[in-house]
Amino acid sequence: MSDIYPPEFCVDDRLPSSDTFTVTTVDGKVGMGVRVKTRFERGSQVARFTGQLSNKILQHTLQVSPDTHLHDPWFVGLLTHSCSPNCVLDMQRLEIWALQDLEPGDLMTIDYAVTEDSLHRQFACGCGSPACRKWITGRREGPDSTGLAYLAGLVSKKVKRIVFRNQRRGVR
Ligand SMILES: [Zn+2]
Repeated sequence: MSDIYPPEFCVDDRLPSSDTFTVTTVDGKVGMGVRVKTRFERGSQVARFTGQLSNKILQHTLQVSPDTHLHDPWFVGLLTHSCSPNCVLDMQRLEIWALQDLEPGDLMTIDYAVTEDSLHRQFACGCGSPACRKWITGRREGPDSTGLAYLAGLVSKKVKRIVFRNQRRGVR
């Protein structure tokens, strides 16, 4: 039986337990994350999940349909974002699948923009992936004013670096 969800949610014996997952704080970052304790092969089902349906977007909700969100502050709502994630969510079947091989101790990551039209809060991303989008929004929204300022700041830093490099090379 799952000891990650409160007992009233444990109607399904395939829900995750602490034998297989650790809910933990993530080093140097605000908020919680989930690590696997066993190996999962790419393409395999990692876990099922559950929660409470809501019509509101909250910090730990995941979108099921345009007006319906699943509130899960115990497990799947705690997964970390990555622009090159190792997991993907099936929001119809409420299942997590591995996109990459997961080794014991690996942090499970998902791309928040895959399920969410708009995020509870947009944020700057430092996931380290070469495909990192730098500022994370939902799939149907543009960057907010903070995001636009942040992205403009990144571009001007890059332009300054290129100008400086070209000056040193004597390029005009
Ligand atoms: Zn990223």
